Amino acid sequence: MRYVSTRGQAPVLNFEQAMLSGLARDGGLYLPETIPPFEGLDQLDGLPYEEVAFRVIRPFTGDSFTDEELRGAIDRAYARIAHDARAPLVQLAPGHHLLELFHGPTLAFKDFAMQLIAQLFQIALTRSGQRVTIVGATSGDTGSAAIEAFRGIDNVDVMIMYPHGRVSEVQRRQMTTPPAANVHALAVTGHFDDCQARLKDLFNDHAFRDHVGLAGVNSINWARVVAQIVYYFTACASLGMRPTDFCVPTGNFGDIFAGSIARQMGLPIRRLIVATNQNDILHRALTSGDYRMGEVEPTISPSMDIQVSSNFERALYLAYGQDANAIRQLMEELKQGGFSISQGALEALREQYVSGRVGEQETLDTIRDIRARTGEILCPHSAVGVAVAQRHIEPGVPMVTLATAHPAKFPDAVERAIGLRPGLPPHMADLFDLPERLTRVENDVDALKSLILERRTA
Ligand SMILES: *Cc1c(COP(=O)(O)O)cnc(C)c1O
Repeated sequence: MRYVSTRGQAPVLNFEQAMLSGLARDGGLYLPETIPPFEGLDQLDGLPYEEVAFRVIRPFTGDSFTDEELRGAIDRAYARIAHDARAPLVQLAPGHHLLELFHGPTLAFKDFAMQLIAQLFQIALTRSGQRVTIVGATSGDTGSAAIEAFRGIDNVDVMIMYPHGRVSEVQRRQMTTPPAANVHALAVTGHFDDCQARLKDLFNDHAFRDHVGLAGVNSINWARVVAQIVYYFTACASLGMRPTDFCVPTGNFGDIFAGSIARQMGLPIRRLIVATNQNDILHRALTSGDYRMGEVEPTISPSMDIQVSSNFERALYLAYGQDANAIRQLMEELKQGGFSISQGALEALREQYVSGRVGEQETLDTIRDIRARTGEILCPHSAVGVAVAQRHIEPGVPMVTLATAHPAKFPDAVERAIGLRPGLPPHMADLFDLPERLTRVENDVDALKSLILERRTA
């Protein structure tokens, strides 16, 4: 399978190359040239998660990994998810289901992709003898998932930038407490969007990129999107493969875009519902056709506090009929603050995406209400999803809301809603006793470059 950039000016790569590079050299994002239709939808019910993962992922990896390598990586990755179903589907109300994606080691859905790509990096780098420096930007959950997945993996240094003072204490500690010498938490003065912009600066400096073997594991990495396709399949298999709506708490548009790929592979997904908090650029774009950056407002669902939604570029590329020139032009306009989506592309987007926005009070009310009616405690991101899903439920069409994090990861918000601090699962009960290790750094690309050069072990 061949991977092309959304901006049309980067080399065409295979799966392994696209995975190891992350962002394309022209600033674009990699996508497969064509999406393979999935054969055997009716044979998935009752299979272990790992088997479904193998069947879904296999067509995308081409000849980058043997069947044995891929199966081994999947088995090792998901053995670390503390639930036999890996992604259990729990019923909330008639016709409304919650897909629990928070049973992994860092309690958020990001473990599903990160655990797998760490295993695939290990295989690829051991084979080639190459070393890489992974640099990531996180609003909290990507960074903890990356540090947890890559700690101790050979031939890899990991540097994670997060916005200082803007991640929850559990998120921060998950990044700052692992003692492995190859992982580093960098606290940047600024917002998540600043971290993401500096990350792009680093990748766009090709000399630096080649010198340190820069690799990216942000949600723009195609291999992460692929891993996230799998749970749409297991959810639909549990519901009998009938037309189903999915509601996805959305920030960088990675998780929901995986759903769109699943849909193109033939999975009976009817609508994909984008749920945002008050940082609602995606909701405004889908409603008005105008994609325009605003100011980031900190919320109780911090992993969705962004204004530029990186993976949306992939959805735009498909909506514009794979016209890379059009995407290059839009991204130029975005540098000036925003752009208008063409009528044709907007219609194509609205064929599959619906959207909704939820304020802080409604998020808290939803946590309280769902607890009272079902006993389930939602994290604030999942609550945003549930609130939007409730507006869109239609009789006869199952609704699946993705529960993206465990409530214990955001105890302050949950306590505000229900007066109770949810406890951490036993395997991380000592998180608050471990010593922390982090480095403060300015929102400045040169400061970051020197730090990376100094810390990497290669
Ligand atoms: C990352 C994250 C999101 C947003 O996912 P995207 O793929 O960036 O849209 C939502 N909720 C939680 C808990 C997250 O960690």
